[in-house]
Amino acid sequence: MKKADVAIIGFGKGGKTLAVELAAVGKSVILVEKSEKMYGGTCINVACIPTKSLVHSAALSAEKGGAFSDQAERYREAIEEKDRLTAMLRDKNYHKLDANPNITVLTGQASFIDRHHIAVATSTGTETLEAERIFINTGARPFVPPISGLLQSKRVYLSETLLDLKELPRRLVIIGGGYIGLEFASMYRNFGSQVTVIQDGEDFLPREDGEVAEAVLQSLTSRGIQILCSTKILGLEDRQHRTEVTIESEKGEDVLLAEAILVATGRRPNVEGLNLEVAGVELTPRGAIKTDEHLRTTVPNIWALGDVVGELQFTYISLDDSRIIKSQLLGDGRRTTENRGAVPYSVFLDPPLSRVGLTEGEAIAQGYEIGVVKLPVMAIPKAQVLKKPVGFLKAIIDTKTNQILGAHLFCEESHEMINIVKLAIDAKLSCAVLRDAIYTHPTMSEAFNDLFAL
Ligand SMILES: Cc1cc2nc3c(=O)[nH]c(=O)nc-3n(C[C@H](O)[C@H](O)[C@H](O)COP(=O)(O)OP(=O)(O)OC[C@H]3O[C@@H](n4cnc5c(N)ncnc54)[C@H](O)[C@@H]3O)c2cc1C
Repeated sequence: MKKADVAIIGFGKGGKTLAVELAAVGKSVILVEKSEKMYGGTCINVACIPTKSLVHSAALSAEKGGAFSDQAERYREAIEEKDRLTAMLRDKNYHKLDANPNITVLTGQASFIDRHHIAVATSTGTETLEAERIFINTGARPFVPPISGLLQSKRVYLSETLLDLKELPRRLVIIGGGYIGLEFASMYRNFGSQVTVIQDGEDFLPREDGEVAEAVLQSLTSRGIQILCSTKILGLEDRQHRTEVTIESEKGEDVLLAEAILVATGRRPNVEGLNLEVAGVELTPRGAIKTDEHLRTTVPNIWALGDVVGELQFTYISLDDSRIIKSQLLGDGRRTTENRGAVPYSVFLDPPLSRVGLTEGEAIAQGYEIGVVKLPVMAIPKAQVLKKPVGFLKAIIDTKTNQILGAHLFCEESHEMINIVKLAIDAKLSCAVLRDAIYTHPTMSEAFNDLFAL
């Protein structure tokens, strides 16, 4: 039996960060990762980094244009480039931990034996670990809806498997109009595929401000992406060179043809096989690990962090979760999920959509007296330079304090700009600070001079 001060299950962002922090203060750490293809976690192997590498290559490819065969060739090169990038990062992540004398990386599937013991099924047999403290960082996995023919089809992909497809699909059907589905839609459209997004819900981007959702919808459809809301998939059937996707909407039944189908219908916390019951770790009604604001589970020596907690699923939340746990173990314990500040996010469309804080509707519902400021992107000189005068900026301001309550930026480089607004919200700055700041020129962020002057 291997013994350590700390066992971490899963090589995700939070887990690997915590491993290094605890090793630095002399703790012995065993980090268990079930797959050698996943050293470094979801982000660098099959999610944020590979998708953003492809989003970037796709935008360059769209600028070049040309015949489908040219685009298909550039797509193949982009997939190979992405593979080299993820292999390099995976290797770097593994060696960073493996070279640490206080950390052991153990490759195998972990499951609890009791609250201090874990069984790890490795390629050579089962190892038993004993640890004083255990951290669960097992991430999330795609939810696959029960659709007739879906599991039998050879042309159905999940986000992670589509990233390995070397042949550009002429027609791509995406099931699910959420952030991941739309990011893939935008990317494949730029590579030259015909893209159809199907969602059963009536409202497009229902959690976004209505005006913003409308602008995104218009932008995507103007680029030739077909978005079908209130549409059900009745079934899929593979033919020799394509798959038939039978759909039903108010207009009746129809059949779409596709060379690839992406299932992007949400991600669920990865708890299967962990045998949490024997350790006494409880789940929420939605199947995530139940934690308090310090990320403590229902068992005192066990914590959970990252996507498996079932809150916002972002790499930087997993990282912040590790800071919350570090604060308890090595600091003053004041950092919690309740005080991590405003959480921004970006959807890497073309242009990207970024948001932080409250929508107009949410601010009103919470009783704020608000002012709303807006700026069309075509008024921003840098957007003209970039030849992307598309979208608009919108911010919601508390008229009593002049503090920013929320912002929606649908424009080129919004994924960088949104971090400035997040800082302003957390620091409780008056929006006049952003209005009067000196920004370099020409940049997208200088638009805050005008946005907050309105
Ligand atoms: C297509 C896509 C694009 C995304 N883009 C972004 C983005 O641009 N920005 C962003 O911030 N977020 C993005 N995300 C979300 C982000 O990838 C996740 O929030 C993040 O990677 C979660 O990290 P984590 O620390 O929870 O664990 P993960 O990185 O998911 O790691 C969990 C690890 O645990 C391992 N594991 C699971 N069960 C066991 C077990 N029983 N035993 C041993 N090991 C186990 C898994 O193999 C995995 O390596 C994206 C997600 C997807 C799917």
